[in-house]
Amino acid sequence: MDHRTLQNRRILISGASVAGPALAWWLARHGFRPTVVERAPQLRGGGYAVDFRGAAHLSVLAKMGIKERQTHLSATTYVDEEGRPVASMPAGIFAGEVEILRGDLGRILYEATRDGTEYLFGDSITGLHQDESGVHVTFRRGAPRTFDLVIGADGLHSNVRGLAFGGHRDPVEDLGLYVSIFSVPDRYGLDHEGLLYSVPGRTAAIFSAPGTDEAVAQFFFTAPDGEPVDYDYHDTARQQKILARAFEGVGWHVPDLLGQMPAAADFYFDSVSQVRLDRWSSGRVALIGDAGYAAGPGGNGTGTAVVAAYVLAGELAVARGDHRVAFARYEDQLRRYVARGQKQARGGRDFLAPATAKKIRRRDRFFRMLPYLPVKGLIRYLSTRTATAIRLPEYP
Ligand SMILES: Cc1cc2nc3c(=O)[nH]c(=O)nc-3n(C[C@H](O)[C@H](O)[C@H](O)COP(=O)(O)OP(=O)(O)OC[C@H]3O[C@@H](n4cnc5c(N)ncnc54)[C@H](O)[C@@H]3O)c2cc1C
Repeated sequence: MDHRTLQNRRILISGASVAGPALAWWLARHGFRPTVVERAPQLRGGGYAVDFRGAAHLSVLAKMGIKERQTHLSATTYVDEEGRPVASMPAGIFAGEVEILRGDLGRILYEATRDGTEYLFGDSITGLHQDESGVHVTFRRGAPRTFDLVIGADGLHSNVRGLAFGGHRDPVEDLGLYVSIFSVPDRYGLDHEGLLYSVPGRTAAIFSAPGTDEAVAQFFFTAPDGEPVDYDYHDTARQQKILARAFEGVGWHVPDLLGQMPAAADFYFDSVSQVRLDRWSSGRVALIGDAGYAAGPGGNGTGTAVVAAYVLAGELAVARGDHRVAFARYEDQLRRYVARGQKQARGGRDFLAPATAKKIRRRDRFFRMLPYLPVKGLIRYLSTRTATAIRLPEYP
C-alpha cells in the first residue's frame, strides 16, 4: 500500500497489555506510525490463562503468526477442605483452542511490535485537546506532543475514556464479583493442572504455570453484603487487605497462599465489571478492548481485543486514515459481536463463586456427571458460537 496517500499516520495508543500492542502490530503493518504509552514502568506480567476459540480469533492470531506457548492444562479439579477431589472439569471443554498465559501473550505481542512501534513506559496521558490539526497530548512525565489520533487501550478503568468521554453516565457496571491473581512458588506438586476450593461466595484456586517454577493463585469472591466493594484500583496494599478479609477463616491452602501475597510481584485485583458506551469514539479519539467494552470472565475479552485490533487498523487502512469513516465502520462491525460476549459473561458469577453450599454441591454434581452426559459437543458449540459470531473482512 502506498503510505504517501495515508493521512493521520501518527497514532498514540494508551495501554500496553493485549489490545494496545495488537493494534500497534496491525497499524504498523498498514503503514501507520504507532506510539504506545504504558503507565507501568515495564511490561506487566501476571494474570492467568487467556483463551482463544473459533475461526475469528484463530484466523487473526494465525495472520499475526501467534500459535505457541499454550498452557496445555490437563484437568481442573474441585477439592474439599482436605484437598480430596470432589469433581473434575475435563480439559478441552471450557478452555479455548489456544490458551496462553496472559503475561506470555503480552510479551509475544510486545516483542513482535517493538521494532515498528515507539513504546513509552512509566508514563500516562494527563490531557487531550483536539482540533482540526490533531490531538494535543500532555503527559505526566514526557513533554507535550501532537498526534493525529489517540486510541484508549487502557483497560476497565480507562484513562482515555475519562479524559475524552466526559459527561457520559458512568459506563462501568460492577457485577458484584471480585478477582485477584498472583504468582506463588509452586510447592503444591501441580502437573499441568488446576485445583479449586469453594466455600459460599468464595473460590480459591491454584494453577500450574507450565514452563516456570511458579504456580498461579486465583481468587474470586462476591461482595459480602451485596454492596459493591469500595476499593481504589491504584492502592495495592488496600486491595490485599480486602482480599485477606474476604478469605479470613477459609481453609485448604488459602492461608498459605495469602501469606505469599505480599511478596508477589504481579499482584492483580479488580472487580468483574462490564463497560457499556453509546459510542466508542469522540472525534479523533477512540477506545478498544476493555476500555470500550469490557465483558468480564467468559465474555471472550482477550479474543475480542485481538479481533478488534485487526478490524480497527484494517478500517483505518481502507479509509486511508480518515478516522470519521474508519471509527464508524469499526463500531458497525463489532457492536453485535461485543454485545453477545457481554451477555454470555453475565452468567459467570454462579459458576465462579457459587453463593451457597447448595449451589456449590449442584455445580460439583454437574461436573461429576458431565463425562456421562452427551453434552460435551453442545457445550463446546455454545461456548464457541459467541466467539465466531462475526464475519471478518479481508483487508489489503
Ligand atoms: C495485570 C493484569 C492481569 C490480568 N489477568 C487476566 C487473567 O488472568 N485472565 C483474563 O481473562 N484476563 C486477565 N486480565 C484482563 C485481560 O487482559 C483483558 O480482559 C483483555 O485481554 C483485554 O485487554 P485490554 O488490553 O483491553 O485491557 P487490559 O489487559 O486491562 O490492559 C490495560 C493496560 O493499560 C494500562 N493502563 C492503565 N491505565 C493506564 C494509563 N493511565 N496510562 C497508560 N496505560 C495505562 C494497564 O497497565 C494495562 O497494561 C488481566 C489484566 C491485567 C492488566
